[in-house]
Amino acid sequence: MHSPIPQLTACDAITCLRCLVCGAEYAPEEVRYVCPHHGSDGVLDVVYDYTAIAARADRDALSARAELDMWRYLPLLPVADPSLRPPLAVGWTPIARAERLGRRLSLSHLWVKDEGRNPTASLKDRASALAVVKAREAGFSTITTASSGNAAAALAGMAASVGLPAVIFVPATAPEAKIAQLLVYGATVVLVEGTYDQAFDLCIEAADRQGWYCRNTAYNPYMTEGKKTAAYEIAEQLGWEVPDCIFVAVGDGCIIGGLHKGFRDLHALGWIDRVPRLMGVQAEGSAVLHHAWRRGTDEITPIVPRTIADSISVGVPRDRLKALRAVRETGGAFVVVSDEEILAAMRELARLTGVFAEPAAAAAWAGVRRALADGLVHRDERVLVLVTGNGLKDIPAAMRAVEGDGRIVRLASSSEALEEWLAQAEG
Ligand SMILES: *Cc1c(COP(=O)(O)O)cnc(C)c1O
Ligand SMILES: [Zn+2]
Repeated sequence: MHSPIPQLTACDAITCLRCLVCGAEYAPEEVRYVCPHHGSDGVLDVVYDYTAIAARADRDALSARAELDMWRYLPLLPVADPSLRPPLAVGWTPIARAERLGRRLSLSHLWVKDEGRNPTASLKDRASALAVVKAREAGFSTITTASSGNAAAALAGMAASVGLPAVIFVPATAPEAKIAQLLVYGATVVLVEGTYDQAFDLCIEAADRQGWYCRNTAYNPYMTEGKKTAAYEIAEQLGWEVPDCIFVAVGDGCIIGGLHKGFRDLHALGWIDRVPRLMGVQAEGSAVLHHAWRRGTDEITPIVPRTIADSISVGVPRDRLKALRAVRETGGAFVVVSDEEILAAMRELARLTGVFAEPAAAAAWAGVRRALADGLVHRDERVLVLVTGNGLKDIPAAMRAVEGDGRIVRLASSSEALEEWLAQAEG
């Protein structure tokens, strides 16, 4: 199994970390998180020398790799020591043709990629796995994050797999299943009486004071690098013929920024011939990026978010610059969907594909309907819906999605009662 040749990674092909606000460039050893001039607004981009990567990695060799997880893309990842990666199989989630779902909207080419199949049941595992590697490479003995839920569960799981203590800040309102994951994985759980946005700031302060490694989305520049592996998989699993557009739910904007980065990497390497249009879907009660996009600005107006889709309930999108750039540079769009549309999308997706999505993940499908109605997508285009998290994450929301649709039969425990019901059902 083990090749005698050392595994090459993209670590020494990093040219700099570049601030998205001022363009200042830093060596990776120089700055750990954000641009010192811009605080937590100064999100950094990891910039690579693609000529150096291309000189030693090619598409076919990569496709021949044996690992069926995100680490098959090690040649494109900023990992210095591959032996420090978590032993769990993250990524390489399945893509399925969704013909019945597609027919519902007369779409001829529709795919669903199910990120709920990751070890902790959301796409966040990709980022958290890389965070654990970076923390261990730098010799940290505790890792921390703030999260609306899934990033927390992902970090708790990845940290548990390597025995790294984790301290997690979540809003006290996070769904119970996600909090249960944290506790079962053995993380220290800090339930913040406030919003995700407040938990985010408290986590940075705690990391600073205690010397913990901070995984916070957008604050930590490597989270985009973990999430970009979803784009690599979409390209490779579809035979390097990328879809025309990809729908993904957006809260902080890190996932959509990660997809953009992944496709840009592949395009720069000449492995794909174009970058898909990235379609960001936001909930009506949390549509901060949609508003900024419409107004053509990078400035956001913070709100108090309100939506059933907790994973995209964000009042201050931390990765706004990468998210807005992803949509603008790919010719995509932001669309907005209501909570009712999200719940309907949960039912439709589950019943027509067998994929059970949590509300935020189902929002992506609700967004396809909206985009078609708005003429942003055509029925003969190749469309992929990224299902970012599993429906078991939020049972109360799932129960709300099926409320009053009359599918439960209450039966007394007797053959007579059964017979009566069957006769009635026949008639
Ligand atoms: C985190 C998350 C999102 C949104 O990702 P951002 O990077 O915050 O935009 C969407 N769906 C699920 C299930 C998530 O966990
Ligand atoms: Zn800066």
